[in-house]
Amino acid sequence: MLLVLSGGTGTPKLLQGLVRLLQPEELSILVNTGEDVEVSGLHVSPDLDTVLYTLAGIINERTWYGIRGDSFFCHDMLRQLGHKELLRIGDRDRAIKSYRTSMLRKGKSVTEITRELCRRLGVRSKILPMTNDRVKTVINTDRGDMSFHEFWVLRRAKDRVTGVNFEGAEKAKPAPGVIETIKKSDGIVIGPSNPVTSIGPILAIKEIRRALAKKREKVLAVSPIVGGRPVSGPAGVLMEGIGHEVSAVGVAKIYRDLTRKFLLHHTDVHLAPRIEALEMKVFSGNLLMPDLKSRVELARRVLRVVRTNR
Ligand code: GDP
Repeated sequence: MLLVLSGGTGTPKLLQGLVRLLQPEELSILVNTGEDVEVSGLHVSPDLDTVLYTLAGIINERTWYGIRGDSFFCHDMLRQLGHKELLRIGDRDRAIKSYRTSMLRKGKSVTEITRELCRRLGVRSKILPMTNDRVKTVINTDRGDMSFHEFWVLRRAKDRVTGVNFEGAEKAKPAPGVIETIKKSDGIVIGPSNPVTSIGPILAIKEIRRALAKKREKVLAVSPIVGGRPVSGPAGVLMEGIGHEVSAVGVAKIYRDLTRKFLLHHTDVHLAPRIEALEMKVFSGNLLMPDLKSRVELARRVLRVVRTNR
């Protein structure tokens, strides 16, 4: 069984490849919930929904959030009423968020609701939220503290980052099934997601971090940084803000006690000796995934590296 740690853009692309090579039951995904936020009275869980929609085959691949071909009548009407939503939520997407919110109000946990959404959308792989407790990613900047969405969506990452923390992570418990799945996985992949705000919150939960560290020999990290910059999103400014080099080496350093294997883009192979110095085995391949073909090819490469004993 393969476990993949995921945020909301790079790793879902890889998941599209993996689901074509594995049986659904062979794949589990451990997902960040640190960016969960309330929008217009709805509980929005951006990364969980992106992973869910990707595996259900309905993701909007232009934006990597929301549902392909969705309409925006509700959003537009809210705007007409003078209510500006922080995130642009489509109508069908809103139905999912509305369902999750009403189930939460009835006392169901995020884990239970995710399981039910998977069943109803025909997703047979296991999607595991990292925790059922509240963890909130906070970006410290020269303009004050802000949520990830204020930092990235509202202000387009123009403020200088001075720190990042995960409120609630200290006390958060792993969601049911998370530790068991880590323990019984034959291979674990830290996907090409933002190492600071997508993978960071997952690793900030102590019991998860400890369980992963025990499986270090089985863990492969795939770099989201190619040629000194992220393929998309604010990972670069965030890494820099908390004192990391924006490169595959910087990513490897973040995962140094958790990962034995590291996969970098073939143009970054000159960085291999610095990563090997962190006691990791380095592998290379094409890490850019603009289309399905490249996603399946990278998934094949990932499976080969996970299974190799070199
Ligand atoms: P955010 O957008 O920074 O919040 O983070 P996500 O974890 O949701 O996804 C963005 C991350 O995915 C970035 O760090 C990107 O570099 C990475 N990413 C996006 N597309 C690709 C790709 O084709 N290849 C690789 N290797 N990484 C990618």
